[in-house]
This record gives sequence, structure tokens and C-alpha cells, in this order.
Amino acid sequence: MSEKHPDLNALHILRYPDPRLRDHVRGIPELDSFLNEMEARMRELMEQEEGIGLAATQVGWPFRFILVNPTGEPGDIHAFINPEIVKKEGKIIAEEGCLSVPGIFAKVKRAEAITVRATLINGEDVEFDVEGLTARVFQHELDHLDGSLFVDRVGPTAKIMISGKLKNLESEFNGDKS
Ligand SMILES: [Zn+2]
Repeated sequence: MSEKHPDLNALHILRYPDPRLRDHVRGIPELDSFLNEMEARMRELMEQEEGIGLAATQVGWPFRFILVNPTGEPGDIHAFINPEIVKKEGKIIAEEGCLSVPGIFAKVKRAEAITVRATLINGEDVEFDVEGLTARVFQHELDHLDGSLFVDRVGPTAKIMISGKLKNLESEFNGDKS
């Protein structure tokens, strides 16, 4: 097992304040069949927790890879390699949560519509526009790849409101050794 090819069965969703959630991770230089296995395992973890997005950083795999469920429908999960936002438009505030920050929800300002560029798991390069909740999920997941969490982006009032719950998560955390 290596950092690039970890034991998939041992993967699980890391919780705040695990330091690995703060990693600014690198791009995937070349596609290999392991990506299909990683996608399948991340999909499983995401479905178990009924998430609508999951970044590889959240399972401790330090590469630019995300899964997004744009509709919330079961099974409608898509994987994106080296995703980037090439255009942003508008601003909108809405509530967010995160599988890595359980029990905390807060309003976050995001771009309303974005253009995403990424590579699909079959090697195809794509560029597409998304808006609303889907745009929000992409922005949230891309933040994870740069070690940023939604709780970093909340306004000052919400920050005060969630600070007690964040402290609870910090005191519950005693180092995830797995
Ligand atoms: Zn998240």
C-alpha cells in the first residue's frame, strides 16, 4: 500500500479537526485503473452517509478528485478529476453542511453560477456550466482540495453561533490514527 494506492477498505470519512482535511492536495498526473476503484469506494462512503458531494481529501487521499451528486437522486453520482472553476457569476447565500463537520450547518456565500473544467474517469476533458445547489456543491468540494472547510467561510455572526459545536468536535477528536 502507498499514498497513491491506499487500502480502500480502510478508507473512511475524516472528521474535523483532522489535520489531513487541511491539506492542499496535488493534481492527478495520469489516469490509471485505480481511479475506478477509488471512485467505487468513495461512492460507497458517500451513499452510506447520504452525502451529495465528497472530496478525496475527506478520505485522506491527497489528490484532486471529487464526487458530486447533482440531483440528490440515489445513484446519480459523477466523478471529476483535477476539477477547476474557470468562471464565476453572481453571489448567493445558502445553508451548507459537510460530512466531515457533522451536526453543523451554517449559511455560506457562494457564486450563483460557475463554469467547471475537469477530466472524467474515461479520460474525456469536459467544460460545463452549473448553477444553484450543484454550483454550491462543486465550490464546496473544490475548497476541500485546498484544505478549506465551509466553516472557514461563514460570516461573523454564524461563526459565533457554531463556535461551541466546533469546540465540541475538537474536544471529541483524539487523533484519527487509522
Ligand atoms: Zn464537505
